[in-house]
Amino acid sequence: MRFTDDTEDALGFVVALVNTEPRASASGDDELSTVDQLDWLLEEHSYSGRRDGDETELDEVRAVRTRLRRFWTLTRDGAAAQVNRLLKETKATPQLVRHDQLDWHIHATEPDAPLAQRMEVEAALAFVDVIRGNALDQLRRCEADGCDGVFVDLSRNGSKRFCSLRCGNRMNVSAYRERQSEQAEVADEPTPEQSAG
Ligand SMILES: [Zn+2]
Ligand SMILES: [Zn+2]
Repeated sequence: MRFTDDTEDALGFVVALVNTEPRASASGDDELSTVDQLDWLLEEHSYSGRRDGDETELDEVRAVRTRLRRFWTLTRDGAAAQVNRLLKETKATPQLVRHDQLDWHIHATEPDAPLAQRMEVEAALAFVDVIRGNALDQLRRCEADGCDGVFVDLSRNGSKRFCSLRCGNRMNVSAYRERQSEQAEVADEPTPEQSAG
């Protein structure tokens, strides 16, 4: 199913955040290990509100990243409990707001609340929609070998398997090579040394 634009944006941000982890990122390194990298991530997603720009803030965001990844493994009931706990703890107060170029959407924290807290609450509100819509199965993990990437499958037929084009292409190439080498093995049966490469 599709969600409202603000929910899809929020989920998109959570995916981008979680996929900065090593084994999920494009570089294979932790892409959220410096304040600069956090700046880039926020800029890419036009993230507004309070910024401290220090190591404490970075550490808090990294902790949020770890907690948000768990939503890709939780049951629906587990996810609901997690969302409720978070909204209660942060005394979240959902309000419709309009700012910058953005139409009415929900904020549940003040703009001057710490960045990590705003991120987590915003994610929780998006997960509210996912849980209510019974769409937790759209939170998927990449099927490519050696990739821990996550994504939200918004495709019409729910057929998305990979976190990125990069992973999709990589797996297509390796499936192609596998077919080629199987064919080569059949063709080269009498000379086994040729099938080794
Ligand atoms: Zn906003
Ligand atoms: Zn992947």
